[in-house]
Amino acid sequence: MRDADTIVIGGGHSGLTAAARLAQAGQRVLLFECRPDVGGRAATLSFGDGFRVPGLLHDTQHLFDGAVRQLRLDRAGLHRDEAPAAWLNPQTTGPGLLLHHEAGQAHAEIAAHSARDADRYADYRQHFDRLRPEVAPLLRRVPPDPSAGVLELLRAGWGARGLLLRRDLLDILRTLPMCVADWLNEWFEGDLLKAGLALPAVAGEFTGPWSPGTNALLVVQNCTVAGAVRGGPAGLIKALLATCREYGVTIRTGTEVTAVVVEGGAARGVQLADGSRCNAERVVAAISPKDLLTRLVPAGAFRPQVVERARQIRTRGTTAKLHLGVRGEVRFAHRDAAVSRARIAPSIDAIERAFDPVKYRRFADRPVLDVWIPTVEEPGLAPAGHSVVSVLVHYASADLAGGWTAAQRQGLATVVRDTLGRYIPDLASRIVSEQLLTPADLAAEFRLPGGHLGHGELGLDQMLVRPTLDCARYATPLAGLTLASSGCFPGGGLTCASGLLAAERVLETA
Ligand SMILES: Cc1cc2nc3c(=O)[nH]c(=O)nc-3n(C[C@H](O)[C@H](O)[C@H](O)COP(=O)(O)OP(=O)(O)OC[C@H]3O[C@@H](n4cnc5c(N)ncnc54)[C@H](O)[C@@H]3O)c2cc1C
Repeated sequence: MRDADTIVIGGGHSGLTAAARLAQAGQRVLLFECRPDVGGRAATLSFGDGFRVPGLLHDTQHLFDGAVRQLRLDRAGLHRDEAPAAWLNPQTTGPGLLLHHEAGQAHAEIAAHSARDADRYADYRQHFDRLRPEVAPLLRRVPPDPSAGVLELLRAGWGARGLLLRRDLLDILRTLPMCVADWLNEWFEGDLLKAGLALPAVAGEFTGPWSPGTNALLVVQNCTVAGAVRGGPAGLIKALLATCREYGVTIRTGTEVTAVVVEGGAARGVQLADGSRCNAERVVAAISPKDLLTRLVPAGAFRPQVVERARQIRTRGTTAKLHLGVRGEVRFAHRDAAVSRARIAPSIDAIERAFDPVKYRRFADRPVLDVWIPTVEEPGLAPAGHSVVSVLVHYASADLAGGWTAAQRQGLATVVRDTLGRYIPDLASRIVSEQLLTPADLAAEFRLPGGHLGHGELGLDQMLVRPTLDCARYATPLAGLTLASSGCFPGGGLTCASGLLAAERVLETA
């Protein structure tokens, strides 16, 4: 007897998106999540005495509009800001650079460091405004079949004709494989501006700004950026959960899937950790593709080459997370008003130097930091009169030489606190709670083989064909088994894109 039409493994934002779409289309959907709550890495986390962080990650500015519309997430309470958030790249000796979205304010801030950069920044923004209508749709559709030959590529080329017919096509092709440092050096001279713009293109990756191909990620990010979700990642999860409930998805949290059940050459259900089994017409896996293909699918269900390619997916984690509960308000040096977002990266070379140690399985002694103070917008996340400081720490090796001993953990926490303290001078004496998640903790806690945040590194090769040649269009060589997590095209981040596109692929064939 069937327990559902479709079983979804994983209740992160991709799993919730896929489940909601399939249930919206009339399927009976059963979703299993091994953690106590849904949300995956976007779920709210508690630490210390009464402090909360609304999601491990910070950036909700790349949501797929098509998913918001299709699932009517605004009706379920999703609100987005009109424009991307401002961020500060602070200085120890001056007010730093606060990059507003609004053109006039951005010009004034940049001009305080370089008049030339201030003028060029408007052109830089226009460059992406012109690219966006052609690039963004390519990232929001099922990618071409890498094994289907020239006809399929021509079909994909037709979809991208806007881009291919551009007079500056050669220049676009020239810049995509560049390293982000070289490209930003063509535009600007100021260290704070260049480093602040470059950081998101390498954050979370096993790359530094001088690594080839990193500019492609900068282009992708700038062509998909929009206003942030109110309430952060947790705000998105709340809306997705309400949508799943509205369409009747059955959700079982605290339930680990230990294997995919294969019968008659097709995925027909899942085995649970308590030994029970659930049956369905098909299985959609919104978890790490590497974990799924190498561990959860029984040996022999795939050709050996399929499993070998899955093993080769690069998933090296380079990011740690530090949460601080702080007495009073948190202000950056030389800034009068509270700022909620900062990128602490003094220069492109400082980012590169922070990246160097992970190549040798160490962590940076001068890390670069992505800082979010969510209590600026939502004071209720901390006890009265306190603040939360959420810090993404780049770079630290998941596979640390000698392992993540207590001393190594203490060492990492100390260098992060020291770095922050240079820009928020009175911070140290006001810290009342602290939670450190090393890349190895994140890997274990959130089931990320290797510790990479997006279920697979975003090198150019792994962006174009994702996760592997055999599974690049969500379907796998095993009938009835579809992939949906951000380990699939178009890649990591809170976009809802892979969850929605995977569900659409299932509906095409159901
Ligand atoms: C520290 C950190 C910072 C990040 N920063 C950003 C950022 O600022 N902006 C951004 O856009 N992206 C960021 N990312 C990446 C982003 O978090 C991911 O791309 C996104 O959360 C992936 O969503 P998902 O639903 O595909 O997977 P996940 O969120 O990983 O969800 C998968 C779910 O499946 C569950 N699961 C796994 N195995 C099983 C099993 N066998 N049985 C049952 N359940 C299972 C897991 O518990 C999890 O809840 C960050 C990630 C991390 C960890």
